[in-house]
Amino acid sequence: QRQKYIRNLSIVAHIDHGKSTIADRILEMTDTVSKREMENQVLDDMDIERERGITIKLNAVELKYHAQDGHTYTFHLIDTPGHVDFSYEVSRSLAACEGALLVVDAAQGVQAQTMANAYLAVDNDLEIVPVINKIDLPSADVDNVKTEIADMIGIDATNAVLTSAKNGTGIAELLERIVTDIPAPKGDLNKPLKALIFDSVYDSYRGVVLSVRIFDGQVKIGDKIKLMSNGKEFEVTEVGVMSPKAVPRQFLAVGDVGYITASIKSVQDTRVGDTITAAERPTDHALAGYRKITPMVYSGMYPVDNAKFEDLRDALEKLQLNDASLEYEPETSQALGFGFRVGFLGLLHMDVIQERLEREFNLDLIMTAPSVNYKIITNNGTMQVIDNPSQMPEPSDIKEIQEPIVRAEIMVPKDYVGAVMELSERKRGQFQTMDYLDNYHVNVIYKLPLAEIIYDFFDSLKSSTHGFASLDYSISGYEAAKMVKMDILLNKEPVDALSFIVHEDFAYERGREIVQKLKHIIPRQQFEVAIQAAIGNKIVARSTVKAYRKDVTGPLYGGDQTRKNKLLDKQKRGKKRMKEVGKVTVPQAAFMAVLQMG
Ligand code: GDP
Ligand code: MG
Repeated sequence: QRQKYIRNLSIVAHIDHGKSTIADRILEMTDTVSKREMENQVLDDMDIERERGITIKLNAVELKYHAQDGHTYTFHLIDTPGHVDFSYEVSRSLAACEGALLVVDAAQGVQAQTMANAYLAVDNDLEIVPVINKIDLPSADVDNVKTEIADMIGIDATNAVLTSAKNGTGIAELLERIVTDIPAPKGDLNKPLKALIFDSVYDSYRGVVLSVRIFDGQVKIGDKIKLMSNGKEFEVTEVGVMSPKAVPRQFLAVGDVGYITASIKSVQDTRVGDTITAAERPTDHALAGYRKITPMVYSGMYPVDNAKFEDLRDALEKLQLNDASLEYEPETSQALGFGFRVGFLGLLHMDVIQERLEREFNLDLIMTAPSVNYKIITNNGTMQVIDNPSQMPEPSDIKEIQEPIVRAEIMVPKDYVGAVMELSERKRGQFQTMDYLDNYHVNVIYKLPLAEIIYDFFDSLKSSTHGFASLDYSISGYEAAKMVKMDILLNKEPVDALSFIVHEDFAYERGREIVQKLKHIIPRQQFEVAIQAAIGNKIVARSTVKAYRKDVTGPLYGGDQTRKNKLLDKQKRGKKRMKEVGKVTVPQAAFMAVLQMG
């Protein structure tokens, strides 16, 4: 029977250990993509992914493999992101699989995200096939990595597949092991349709395209399907698989991973994690959906051109369909006008969303400094959660402010424990425990304020441990902290979008730093601009941007016109990310200056 020859698997790993390259080699060896069509990292099809060399979105592809047992198998391979910001995408894809290839770099060994992803796979009852990659590197130490996998994760790695995705070694064995080690999908073809939506994307021609895993039954063109969360019914217009481009099929049946379109025009109708069933013969039980995840950081997002507010709303709506972790609601700023408060999983996520909105939806955006959320307990006993400094009540009304705290697990070779502790203490961390994972690796556990960790903690950690530390964290609760709101005034007018919340102990220092930064970021105007940092009524630092004298094209007068035009062009493009705040022109960088401190 058909199902016996299907294998659904994910590739999980710490970032840069070689998932995407292994996926490329597998596609090549199975002739899914011809040598000629082969571009690096085929599955990373977003421009941003290629440019940055990272996987952001999960991608599912179908391929055929002629195994040594004489049968042809159908694999559905789901590549997943490795960065901690995107672990939500990983857990989504795992729910569609029976097995996972756990890729570990032969030189770097087990890292924090290797462990985190391995646990996600175990939680989803997946069969794990350990793969040790990059064995071509001179610093590869296969035996040591096997021991690490066994000691640190608790998986037997004696038979780990050894690969070099770079030169193709071991990929043939890997394909066989997928057949022998990963179980065929369970489920019943004769039962009513039951399919999990694990991703979706909006296509302007076809409407919403749903990525699905069929757990029972089958679906074909013309079928009436029903979404179990809201009871809405649609007629299927196309089903197919990604191979790696969309290939229409007659039907999708139990065990398959593919896509469905059904003229779904409203993006609100579909939710990732929802179950699809047959309208006429529905299943009784929906599949277990996904847990809702909460954003870690919030930032204001404003169109440079106020008239584009509705376009931004539309774009966010469409992007949310493709990224269920994105949350937003409208907000207004005195300085920036109408925009949205948007929640993100981390700063990389924020960066990626901004870039996707600008590229895919052709918007020019101003974003305000990211902030975590705070619980404010007022003197009259009420509690409110704020995610924007401008919502902070008057200091005299506040009894207590609580900030989100994370439990951070920092994995590091023992020689660097001192450096990790020094950094964590400086970031207001509270030491918890320290475990030796083996003779060499230590897991250092700290409680740290999320506000300190989201900014540059990871970069500082990397540099103070020469790249050897890896980090994983999750919110553990809220704790009281002495936080204050810092206002920034331009020519005596407070600019709400520049306010930020900071710990009392660092407030003066940050105030001084920010006015210096802004002095260099805010361009000269026709008049002098006074910059002040204030806590309540108290000015803690000030600086001045002098009035400008020269036209930008001044030195080129009499010179050649094309050069002059180029310069004017450049200036115009730069302007796109500027906003008039009162009379002062403020560039995007000013709103992010707070990120470059501490
Ligand atoms: P991902 O983040 O896990 O998807 O990792 P990538 O597949 O993007 O690989 C990260 C880097 O490692 C890239 O520069 C690859 O070219 C390189 N790489 C991947 N596999 C190998 C390998 O087997 N040997 C060597 N030397 N480099 C590899
Ligand atoms: Mg990748």
